[in-house]
Amino acid sequence: MPLHIQTPYIRSQVASRRLGKDVLFKLEAMQPSGSFKLRGVGAVCDARRAAGSRRFVSSSGGNAGIAVAYAGRELGVPVLVVVPESTSARARDLIRLEGAELIVHGASWAEANMFAQSVLSPHDAFVHPFDEPELWQGHSTMIDEMAAAGPKPDAVVLAVGGGGLLCGVLEGLARNGWGDVPVVAAETQGADCYARSIAQGRPVELPAITSVATSLGAKRPCDAAVEWATRHTVENIVVSDAAAVAASLRFLDEHRILVEPACGAALAALDAASTVLAAASRIAVIVCGGVTATVEYLQALSSRER
Ligand SMILES: *Cc1c(COP(=O)(O)O)cnc(C)c1O
Repeated sequence: MPLHIQTPYIRSQVASRRLGKDVLFKLEAMQPSGSFKLRGVGAVCDARRAAGSRRFVSSSGGNAGIAVAYAGRELGVPVLVVVPESTSARARDLIRLEGAELIVHGASWAEANMFAQSVLSPHDAFVHPFDEPELWQGHSTMIDEMAAAGPKPDAVVLAVGGGGLLCGVLEGLARNGWGDVPVVAAETQGADCYARSIAQGRPVELPAITSVATSLGAKRPCDAAVEWATRHTVENIVVSDAAAVAASLRFLDEHRILVEPACGAALAALDAASTVLAAASRIAVIVCGGVTATVEYLQALSSRER
């Protein structure tokens, strides 16, 4: 039994009316850990435990760390999550709530990650948040569910951080004979390492992450995500933080589901100028979810951006 669940795949009447197209939402926000991350992380943790790992280690203070903590609790394997001091109290609480050991170390993610690597023993499995083929295979199962459920979309819209979700979705599209379905890759300004990498034709590193969409905050995308764009149609869309936050709040009002600004970026891309979306009449959006933002926080961001 996989650790993730089959999520609802619904047609949104309100978004379909607004855009004059069929808009379908794959509701990964409904995963028990609150985001799609559980698909890939669950698959990796399952495989590592079967191979003899006795502890899972993560350096993510976001949805990946929470998914590893969830997977460890479900599988009965201890989990260590090392996060930097910048990690919010809410994220720390969510990781502890899943029963994981939490160590707060260093000012930046790089320091926390270095510490996590330094404590790894041979029986530990380090679970990478986005750059790992078994993780992509786990993420790709969402496309199997979409292919089993319904008609082929003309475009798939998703958010990109380090590119793990993108690699999984592209793998799933190829496996289901949907290799000709273009993908719209959404990021926020200040977390747009993928758009910059595609523009340069090679992975480039951002000097810093300045977006509020912290779950998109990889400074550099994985090589595989950049390579995929040479053999699959991928359109990059970069939205403002304000647009991403507004899209999250609108999604809450219209669909009664709370998602992070990282997910709001994909929702906001629906309203952005896009040649792929202009040509599409049926659009599937991966509602990737995310549990680290509260309603109050989104509202505070929204009034700050005004
Ligand atoms: C991790 C995450 C992303 C980005 O996924 P990548 O695999 O890093 O590209 C987007 N949204 C949410 C909510 C996430 O947790």
